[in-house]
Amino acid sequence: MNILTNAEKRTYGAIVIGSGMAGGWAAKEFCDKGIKTLVLERGRKVTHNEDYPTTLLSPWEMEHRGQLTKQEIDENPIISKCYAFREDAKHFFVKDAEHPYIQDKPFDWIRGYQTGGKSLLWARQTQRWSQLDFDGPARDGFAVPWPITYKEIDPWYSYVEHFAGISGNKDGLDSLPDGDFLPPMELTCVEKHFQKEMKRLYADRHVIIGRCAHLTEPRDIHIQQGRGTCLGRNLCQRGCPYGGYFSANSSTLPWAAKTGNMTLRTDSVVHSIIYDDKKQKAVGVRVVDAHTKEMVEYYAKVIFVTAAAINTNLILLNSKSSRFPNGLGNDSGLLGTHVAFHNYRASLSAEYEGLLDYKTSGGRPNSGYIPRFRNLYKQETNFLRGYAAGMSGGRGTHADQSSVGESLKNSLLNPKWSNWYAGSHMMGETIPKESNKVTLDATKIDAWGMPLLHMDVSYDNNDDLMVKDFIDQFTEMYEKAGFKNIKTRDSHAPAGLDIHEMGGVRMGSDPKTSLLNKWNQLHHVKNVFVTDGACMTSTSTQNPSLTYMAFTARAVDFAVKEMKKGNL
Ligand SMILES: Cc1cc2nc3c(=O)[nH]c(=O)nc-3n(C[C@H](O)[C@H](O)[C@H](O)COP(=O)(O)OP(=O)(O)OC[C@H]3O[C@@H](n4cnc5c(N)ncnc54)[C@H](O)[C@@H]3O)c2cc1C
Ligand code: SF4
Repeated sequence: MNILTNAEKRTYGAIVIGSGMAGGWAAKEFCDKGIKTLVLERGRKVTHNEDYPTTLLSPWEMEHRGQLTKQEIDENPIISKCYAFREDAKHFFVKDAEHPYIQDKPFDWIRGYQTGGKSLLWARQTQRWSQLDFDGPARDGFAVPWPITYKEIDPWYSYVEHFAGISGNKDGLDSLPDGDFLPPMELTCVEKHFQKEMKRLYADRHVIIGRCAHLTEPRDIHIQQGRGTCLGRNLCQRGCPYGGYFSANSSTLPWAAKTGNMTLRTDSVVHSIIYDDKKQKAVGVRVVDAHTKEMVEYYAKVIFVTAAAINTNLILLNSKSSRFPNGLGNDSGLLGTHVAFHNYRASLSAEYEGLLDYKTSGGRPNSGYIPRFRNLYKQETNFLRGYAAGMSGGRGTHADQSSVGESLKNSLLNPKWSNWYAGSHMMGETIPKESNKVTLDATKIDAWGMPLLHMDVSYDNNDDLMVKDFIDQFTEMYEKAGFKNIKTRDSHAPAGLDIHEMGGVRMGSDPKTSLLNKWNQLHHVKNVFVTDGACMTSTSTQNPSLTYMAFTARAVDFAVKEMKKGNL
């Protein structure tokens, strides 16, 4: 009989750090390819359906009717700014006091530490990048060139779209390539009015229905995952009992588990990656048990770091060895720099007085989308890059509540339809800069022995100019389309609140100016891969998660081929 030593028992083919959007994909792909995979998750276990405590509650069944208390808001000045942090979903967010970090400049860091990470909480908007986005840094000279092209990632977008289930319309736009779509959702009539007017008034501005990770018509592959049609309840952040939207919990992780190749270890805080100077490669990870605080080592041939962009930076910076005293793979000294994010600061609301014969009914977990139109093919404004925008319009009712008794009852039972309302918010690209960085504190550590992270990341003048342009352009667009009572707003929120933090471990062809090669492999530690937002060389305007999924599936495919060739 072959008796395994303790170290052998803790040895796997692959280790995946983090079980969220990217980690779930890494787990599925490795397990499907027959690799014994250890998934390490710092948060608690959240199993699909079993651990969605509010999913079927009505508002009156919640103590505060879905709202936060004043105490919760006071105790959580950062996370309570996030629209999804409500009574029904607050248990899936990291509270401010639980995991401190140091804000050298104000930065709202929104986190979800549990199985599935933020894939439980996301708004499920999923747009592909186009070649115009991959060309951006080289064309405009603001970052290193991307080492891959749209053509290389295109089949991987299709691959992940097919499995995740993405609803969308084939719009035929250069700036937003079409994908492997399930049937699209529908625009409301006021959104269709705006769409028609934009088409009439502008050659370059398109209003389309959002592309989103919802099963409008499940395919066999989704039924095999145990998922069903989205019913439009709009309660997604509670966890969906039907698996109507894509999350790691409902899709990739249970799929990986079914192969028998996955070991998911929750409450396991990865402290650092172990680098072996003699073997000149990473051999495993150090893990702190979240409760006992004991440290254990696990070993593998290949390590995927998918702990969400900022935490991935933290783990790599904390992985010091005599070969890499400044963090794993950090010969260039650039690890933790060029952190970028999205700029959602500006928004607009308006009313439309027509279309009064129509009303809305039912829910739609999606909105309209206006792909980027500024500086798309050439530089034409006083700021670099551009913004996409959301667009949604609907119609509500209101009842006069100024009376009492019979009159109040009658008023509540016979509410009046208001005018159509509509609104847009910007989704701007920010420029990665060396000065926007994260670093480790030299002395302060958290409860698990990890150094506290310094966030030195902020908006700049380019972002302010972009906010102004959005406000000017969208005011003009709504005015021209016949909307009234137009109100605009710059939230002046600090960086971070828009939750798409990226960079710090960017991809590029030159090891002197980048950390990762075109396969998401650390240039200097070939068996360590980074495929979450940390790998992003630039941010574009599209919601980023679909791109992380495609990068992850592609990188695992490459890693397994390299393992089979004996290169890793
Ligand atoms: C309200 C909201 C709306 C959003 N809307 C959209 C959208 O519409 N479209 C879009 O594309 N994106 C959206 N996002 C962003 C999206 O959720 C993230 O881009 C995505 O989840 C990132 O995937 P990830 O795997 O990198 O990180 P996560 O999904 O956050 O997973 C990372 C995991 O790593 C774990 N981890 C961290 N550190 C360690 C450690 N040291 N050891 C072990 N485990 C660790 C975490 O606990 C977590 O489970 C939204 C996010 C939120 C919160
Ligand atoms: S809108 Fe769809 S995915 Fe979201 S909770 Fe409802 S049924 Fe589930």
